[in-house]
Amino acid sequence: MALKFVDELELENKRVLARFDFNVPLDSDGNITDTTRIDLALPTIKHILEAGCSKLILMSHLGRPKGQVKKEFSLEPVATYLAEALEEDVVLTESALDRGIKTLLDLNETKIVLLENIRFHPEEEKNDHDFAKQLSEYGDVYINDAFGTAHRKHASTYEINAFFKGSAAGGFLMKNEIEALNKIVNKPERPFVAITGGAKVSDKLKIIERLLTTVDSLIIGGAMAYPFLKAKGYTVGSSMCSDSDVELARKLLLHGSSSKIMLPVDHIVSDDIEGNPETIKDVNIPDGMIGLDIGPESLAVFNSKLDRAKTILWNGPMGLFENAHFAKGTTGIAQSLSMNTGYTLVGGGDSVAAVKKSGLSAKMGHVSTGGGASLEYIEQGSLPGIQALKFGIS
Ligand code: AMP
Repeated sequence: MALKFVDELELENKRVLARFDFNVPLDSDGNITDTTRIDLALPTIKHILEAGCSKLILMSHLGRPKGQVKKEFSLEPVATYLAEALEEDVVLTESALDRGIKTLLDLNETKIVLLENIRFHPEEEKNDHDFAKQLSEYGDVYINDAFGTAHRKHASTYEINAFFKGSAAGGFLMKNEIEALNKIVNKPERPFVAITGGAKVSDKLKIIERLLTTVDSLIIGGAMAYPFLKAKGYTVGSSMCSDSDVELARKLLLHGSSSKIMLPVDHIVSDDIEGNPETIKDVNIPDGMIGLDIGPESLAVFNSKLDRAKTILWNGPMGLFENAHFAKGTTGIAQSLSMNTGYTLVGGGDSVAAVKKSGLSAKMGHVSTGGGASLEYIEQGSLPGIQALKFGIS
């Protein structure tokens, strides 16, 4: 069964219930500091409105209120921004189960309703059947465009599909993400090189195992590299490197395809994370020094591999890139990807932030909006929220 998208459903005069990921960052005054997630939802919202829906009922979570009503996680700033962007009134409800919602939906004047933060209800994250049923009663059709939460089985993304058999579809953001990720998951053009970095091996264990079976080369940089170097018998000084991560790295190095792993051959170090950078032209890091970025020789070796690659997946920075002293490796990889003529996909929170910081986002094949969701998609070839949308649930 093929997954349907929003432009394949009849929406005229229908009440459309749509789940988005409006989980935007807010400053202490409640102002949105990055509107990307809402902006990416606009094509789907505009399509639904232009298709002549009678009502549009929007759902989203924001932050982690953990099932409690917390004012700082209200969707009020989102409602204000949406109203400006759409030049239409957006009515924010008091809660997702507000008694007045059904009356509101009977009023001719009201077109767009935003339900207050769905995670104010503990039932959302528990994937509660009755809660999903109550939500489902607001709409005739259901659209899910919340790719960033499609790896979670929550009431508004998973269980709700039980009530929309044949009348559920994905939004355009979901469609873009799936098409992009499928280029990596299904027969990637070779050579296929993956780059992984960031801090913890344990967080990325599954994706490394999965990638080792499919890539031609796997570049490991950032603090992720030190447990691998230590497991191979090199010294790592005072770099970030837990014993449990060394154990995991040791196991991964026994993997039948571990010869695909490429590690840094030199480093940028300092005696303090705020200290001055120093280049170590050796794999070993001396006592008392902290590895904080890959060195120039490592970048050159990695880049020569990347130059020939036809498909590249990047997840995780090459060093402590938030500090400009230790950002050269990460920026260098971003530049290399921006010049690559093959297919480049950046997935995962911090590498996305690094690419944005370097101003090169537009030069990437695809920058995924869902960090955890995109990695799980690559690991498993789909996500629970997408499967439920496709096949429904009983
Ligand atoms: P992750 O969430 O696992 O992708 O980790 C990303 C974080 O790892 C970023 O905040 C980086 O600054 C940090 N990081 C990457 N390399 C290093 C390093 N060599 N030492 C300390 N932190 C690092």
